[in-house]
Parts: sequence; structure tokens; C-alpha cells
Amino acid sequence: SRSGFCKSNSTFYSKRNPLPLPANPSLDITTFISSQPHRGTTAFIDAATGHHLTFSALWTAVERVADCLHHDIGLRRGHVVLILSPNSIYFPVVSLAVMSLGAVVTTANTLNTAAEILKQVADSNPTLAFTTADLAPKLAGSGISVVLERVGSTRGVNVVGVVSEMMEKEPRGQRVRDRVNEEDTAMLLYSSGTTGPSKGVISSHKNLTALVARFVSEKSICDQIFLCTVPMFHTYGLLCFCMSTVASGSTVVILRRFDLHGMMEAVEKYRATTLALAPPVVVAMTKEADVIMGKYDLSSLGRVRCGGAPLSKEVTLGFMEKYPTVDIFAGYALTESNGAGAYVDSVEESRRYGSVGLLSSGVEARIVDPDTGRLMGVNQTGELWLKGPSIAKGYFKNQEATNETINAEGWLKTGDLCYIDDDGFVFVVDRLKELIKYKGYQVPPAELEALLVTHPDILDAAVIPFPDKEAGQYPMAYVTRKLESDLSEKQIIDFISKQVAPYKKIRKVVFINSIPKNASGKTLRKDLINLATSKI
Ligand code: AMP
Repeated sequence: SRSGFCKSNSTFYSKRNPLPLPANPSLDITTFISSQPHRGTTAFIDAATGHHLTFSALWTAVERVADCLHHDIGLRRGHVVLILSPNSIYFPVVSLAVMSLGAVVTTANTLNTAAEILKQVADSNPTLAFTTADLAPKLAGSGISVVLERVGSTRGVNVVGVVSEMMEKEPRGQRVRDRVNEEDTAMLLYSSGTTGPSKGVISSHKNLTALVARFVSEKSICDQIFLCTVPMFHTYGLLCFCMSTVASGSTVVILRRFDLHGMMEAVEKYRATTLALAPPVVVAMTKEADVIMGKYDLSSLGRVRCGGAPLSKEVTLGFMEKYPTVDIFAGYALTESNGAGAYVDSVEESRRYGSVGLLSSGVEARIVDPDTGRLMGVNQTGELWLKGPSIAKGYFKNQEATNETINAEGWLKTGDLCYIDDDGFVFVVDRLKELIKYKGYQVPPAELEALLVTHPDILDAAVIPFPDKEAGQYPMAYVTRKLESDLSEKQIIDFISKQVAPYKKIRKVVFINSIPKNASGKTLRKDLINLATSKI
């Protein structure tokens, strides 16, 4: 068998069943998802309104919206559509419709400022945006035509359609479909990867087909009632709740915005069986357990799937003590891997506390010494490299970053320090890359550093993650001021918070005479991280 660790080429092979890749991979991802056999009836429920969308209504809606986008708006293969929206029933409808036309879905964090969104727009060059009346003003300066979720009043944007109306419109006969090739780009999600600012990750229809094929073969994803609280603009929410659950026939109850008690109320009301959460919510649920258990009937809930950031053994055990009938299934992936990585798929696997589970099917892994490049064996720690059909093709318009991240043999360097034990369980030990994750959201330090040095009193700056119990980590800055400057910590914090989304705020500043650099001028982040954490 090819599973397990192979000494001769120092490669770890997945112990899961082989990936059931489709016989006809040339389908677009939407057609592939809609052709999956399943027994489900309800695809989506809006938790706030109770509005149900059955699978047959979903596919009718996707077809009608695609028809309108094609005929009325002229959307074609290769065009890019920006989705700037909170979680809603319309999010999966629009994304599936866009990809069925061979057009490309890109998303933005709804918390981002207009300036941050415009930067992303300049990079991805969308022809159309899907958004809500509330968020539309953030696109006012972009010049992009806008399709609104529902009728609403907006100023400063050119509204060319309304999705709720498109969903009611009879299609105009046979649509001439652009032929979609499996190598065509289906999605461009933004991630800073191992270094630098946010970049568009090119995911092809073939990448996503491999992901969905894998998900439908997982035991733990079928026949569930999921509650989706993770954002659909992030890889986790989009791949899981707009694609994989649809293919598997599970029901997704959608929460528009997260709040702990709203989530618990929805579990009770819709008898949810699985929650998908980022670690800070697991921490919050544990803290509030006594109130929650006294107030809500959670007897339907059997499982929490958790990913996006590290979940320690202590947090897992603390949660299980409070909720003894709920299992935590960890998972690990990154935007660049389109859901491939490692995950827990059974209660037995979930007992390997601190681990993120076994390698996903179809994935090969290597553990590489980050200093020497030497390939490591079982139980040895190094950078995790991944290879397989879901791995993204590279970064949009950025060959240099692509070459640095995916080598000629197709290995994706994850930037995560990991080891894999004798039984094939993956453990994430630390993050090598500069990325900071605040409550699961990506904060690229390079973006904040670039802003800091625009301040006339700042000579140099470095931004690093600072550990925090609730958020996981938050951005902290080391700053070198001009000699005569009396710039304060608070002034710096304010200077940045005016310019960035709230989750990117710098929350701590320490002044330093000079930022430590190596011979080639690269900031020695590990030294700064050690310095910062040695003082806790
Ligand atoms: P993103 O592309 O936003 O999903 O971020 C991916 C990164 O989040 C990974 O490279 C890891 O650094 C981190 N990450 C994701 N899931 C986990 C996990 N289960 N445990 C530890 N780190 C994780």
C-alpha cells in the first residue's frame, strides 16, 4: 500500500481511502456539484428568517441567476465577480452561478475598509460586484457595476441587477454556454501566503473538483445539519458551505453575523448537529458553558468542526469537560491548498488531542528542515509541504511569489512547522511564515509595516504576532522613532486603526533602537517574537 511514510523518498502518503476523482473532470465545478447523488432535501435555511431553500429550488435559482448574469449583464467566461457580502442564502447561489459561466469568484472580508477593498479591486479587476445595500458604499469609488442581494437604496454605485429578483425570473430558453476547461480559474481568494501583502490565489475548476470529490467521500460531512457561522468569504466557509455540503446533501443553517447566543438559539431551533467554528468561539463557548447549558437545548449537537488556527489540547479538554456529548473534529488547511491538509473524520481520530488529524485523501506531505532543506522522517519537526490535485496553481499576476511558494515539482510550502507521528497524525507546532491570525482572520504584517513607515516620525517598523488567549494572537509593532520624536504608543495605535479594518489593528507597540535584520536586510522576526514573549 502507498499509505503511510515511505522512507525512500521521505514522503508521507494519506492513510485515507484514495481520492475518488471523477471520470469526467472537464465539467465546471457547479455542474460537478449539481450532478452528485444525495438524499438531502433542504440545502439552506436562513436562521434569522427561517427561509428554506430546497436542493431543487437552489439549482433552479442558480440556473436563473446564471441566465440573468449572462443575458442581461453580459457576464462571460474569464470575467471576475467580487462578492462583498455577509453570509446569506444568496452567497452560494451567486458563487455557483458565476462559476457555472466560467467566470471567476473573488471575495473580500466585509470588515475591510473601502481603501483596502479598492486595493484588492485594482489587483483582481472585477467587472461586477455582488453586495448588500449596507456594504455597497464601500464600492463607491471603484466604478464597478453592482448586483444587490435585495432591492435597497444605495448612493454612488451603479446597480445593474437584484439577485432576489433574478431568482424569480423564468430563463430565456437555451443559454449558449461558454465551454469551461478544467484548468480555467474558478476562484481568486486573497491570502498573504508565507510573506508580503495579500495576493490572489488561483484555484481552478479541477482544484475544486478534487476538493468536492473528497468531501463527499467523508463520513462526517454527509447527513448533517450544519450551522454556518464562519464567514463565506474565507476559504473555509466558501469551500465547505457553498460547495461541499451542497454536494453531500447536508443542510446548512446560515447565520448572517456571529453572536454566541444567536448561534446557540439557532442550534436549538433548527436541531443543528454540527457547528463549524474557529478556535476563539470554542474558547467563548467553554467560558459561557454554564449559562449556555442552562438556557438552550443542545441535545441535537454532536460535533464541532474546528479549524483556521491552532486549537490546543487544553482548550479541547476544557470544552469536552463542559460539553461531554460533543466531539471536536479538528482540521487544518490553507487558502493555497483549497481545503487539502489534514482533518479528523471520526470520534476515534478526535481522541488524538492536539493533532489536526490524518492527511486528507489524495494528499502527499513532506516535512522539510527549514534551514537545511533536509527531508525529515516521522516524529521530526520541520516545514510541512503538501502536494495533490487541490493545491492552487499559484498567485495571480505574481510569478515570483508563486515560484517561492510552489516548487517545480508541485510542492506547496505551507509555512507551518509540523510533525507527523507514527500513525500518520499531523501536529502543527508553530507558524514559520510571518502571517498573523486574529480570531482566524488573516493579518499580513507587511501591510501594517508599509503603513507604519508612512508616518513622518517612524524610521522603521516590524509587526509580529503577540499571543492572546481569546483572539489567538494580535498584531504588535516594534517601532524605531526619529531621534527627536516623542511619538507615543497610543498615537501609533490610532494612526493605524484609522486606516485598517478593526481586526488588523495594532494593539501593542514597543520602541526599539533598531529593527534586527539579517545580512540581506530581512527582518529577524523570530528574534523579535522571542523578545516580545520573553517579557510575558
Ligand atoms: P488561511 O489561508 O486563512 O486559511 O490560513 C491558513 C493558515 O492558518 C495555515 O497555514 C496555518 O498557519 C493556520 N491554520 C489553519 N488551520 C489550523 C489549525 N487547525 N491549526 C493550526 N494552524 C492552523
